[in-house]
Amino acid sequence: MIKRNILLNPGPATTTDSVKMAQVVPDICPREREFADNMKDLRADLVRVAHGNPQKHTAVLFTGSGTINIDICLNSLLPEGKKILIVNNGAYSTRAVEVCQYYGMPHIDLRSSVYDIPDLQAVERTLDENPDVALVYTTHHETGTGVLNPIREIGRLAHQHGAIFVTDTTSSLGMIPFDIEQDNVDFCMASAQKGLMAMSGLSFVIGNRAIIEASKNYPKRSYYCNLFLQYDYFEKTGQMHFTPPVQTIYATMQALKEYWAEGEEQKFARHRRVFEAIHEGLDKLGFRDVIRRDIQSGLVVSVKYPDNENWNFDLVHDYCYDHGFTIYPGKISTTDTFRLCSLGAIDVKDIEAFFVVLKEALEKYNIKVSYHD
Ligand SMILES: *Cc1c(COP(=O)(O)O)cnc(C)c1O
Repeated sequence: MIKRNILLNPGPATTTDSVKMAQVVPDICPREREFADNMKDLRADLVRVAHGNPQKHTAVLFTGSGTINIDICLNSLLPEGKKILIVNNGAYSTRAVEVCQYYGMPHIDLRSSVYDIPDLQAVERTLDENPDVALVYTTHHETGTGVLNPIREIGRLAHQHGAIFVTDTTSSLGMIPFDIEQDNVDFCMASAQKGLMAMSGLSFVIGNRAIIEASKNYPKRSYYCNLFLQYDYFEKTGQMHFTPPVQTIYATMQALKEYWAEGEEQKFARHRRVFEAIHEGLDKLGFRDVIRRDIQSGLVVSVKYPDNENWNFDLVHDYCYDHGFTIYPGKISTTDTFRLCSLGAIDVKDIEAFFVVLKEALEKYNIKVSYHD
């Protein structure tokens, strides 16, 4: 028996014991055929998770945390003399802007309020005025706020202007409906420890094979993080270019087995009811959230710190942590918040148990949940 912690932070998420135990395997050299076969099946499964077409789409695996995907897609898919448009309403799209800055890639940082979805007319106007934009990028679910962005519309605008569309689906893929074709996406990305409920260390880009092949002659801006190089190595040898995260891959294979066994629709519904249970618990205690309900992803609730002199996030966090529940702080612009997330192998009864503990913490430290306005 492994102690079960309920992670309400935005990933890594709570995993099942069977996924944890899947990492304990006989030692194997990852250059063996047996291991290559594992990765082949895994890649095909990931394309299915994104509802891709196995002829048109492929999944390319990388060793690293989710940010490696952002780096790879941006540095690998920009042709010479062209520009990137980042539709930016949050911390994760800001990270993409920073990647552009580090590589010195021409880009437009189209910023808008972190409390709202982007203005599609501004996106369209920017594309009209900048015919040299070859890559449009945005974050599907801004994990820092819980805002779900209108990727289908942004993808359509990108395509109408002859640009490819890349979206960061790290905190949405496998948890809410997504269809790479219908959503007008050329490349999406995630890592194993979020929607798939496996371990950290494995990340993957899922997208259009023909575009990767066309990128062969684009400027090479990184050696370790190049999409074509890794794809080409997989195609020629069935292997990762460099050492894969062997045990994480076994855990991810088990997690995918459990993904299909639970069923996509059932899994989406479970995350949704956990999200509703979080809202219900917060409402009962008088907490307020930060983002309009109708643009929330269904995966993250950003909660305003109460205006009470006894409120102390660290004390509340530590009390919850000691009782097996992890909550996560975060500032949104100028608003102090903490987040409760519905990722992972958890269900409504875990949330009910959490609110018992949270209530105890509030009572212990004499915190009244109220707001000035
Ligand atoms: C978690 C996350 C990432 C990756 O973060 P890492 O710390 O590198 O794993 C990227 N984008 C989004 C939207 C995320 O939620």
